Amino acid sequence: MNLQLCSPYRKCPFNCPMCIAATDDGEINNVFNLYENNRVEYFYRLAKAIQGKDTVVITGDTEPTLFPEWISNVLKFFQIIGYEGKIELQTKNYCLSSYCYEWYNLDLNLIAYSATCAKDLEKIFSFNLAKESYCRTRLVVLLTEDTIDYLYKTPVKELTKFAEITFKVLQTPEREAEANYVKEHNSFDKKKLDAIIEFVQLHSSKCSIRIDENCMDATDRYEIMRIDGKMYKTWF
Ligand code: SF4
Repeated sequence: MNLQLCSPYRKCPFNCPMCIAATDDGEINNVFNLYENNRVEYFYRLAKAIQGKDTVVITGDTEPTLFPEWISNVLKFFQIIGYEGKIELQTKNYCLSSYCYEWYNLDLNLIAYSATCAKDLEKIFSFNLAKESYCRTRLVVLLTEDTIDYLYKTPVKELTKFAEITFKVLQTPEREAEANYVKEHNSFDKKKLDAIIEFVQLHSSKCSIRIDENCMDATDRYEIMRIDGKMYKTWF
């Protein structure tokens, strides 16, 4: 079981078309921020939340690296209380070199870089993140026509530099615009995916590959702690 730990809300610049955080009514923006209002209580609840958790995944209703100070503070907290599980960061910020070293020294074990379109993949490969990051790296590819076609048509050796790759099947959000996007662009082309996986396996024996068919299914997988300090079972 892991804990998905949500960062404080910050307006996200990435504009991913399937984003579940992009509410019209600012609902997430209005979530009470316990971290800012009562830090002692926030960290008390966080200490309780990580009990029995093998992994803490630093993530967010929006991009967590928009608030780097919060990330440093939670990592310091885990170090102080001697948390022994793994700590991961999920991010779309591919330019973390100014923070990586500090966070690595604060026991961050893995950075998972997510790509939602071919342009993201191009950017990721141009940075060669697996080489630049101080800790283990995972590439998380959301399976759209765009990403799968890009990797199929242009097999990229940089893929093999990641310690882990996860291919995620897109889930349908509640709101109509995002749900329509997912319906139109979702792609689980088994033939192309198998060819991509075969390419990676041919060039790297160390890279572990996983297909996540329902990342929104929390059953026996994760609990969520939002910035209000409360625990949730689902993202929607
Ligand atoms: S990075 Fe995350 S929060 Fe930002 S737009 Fe994309 S999915 Fe939404």
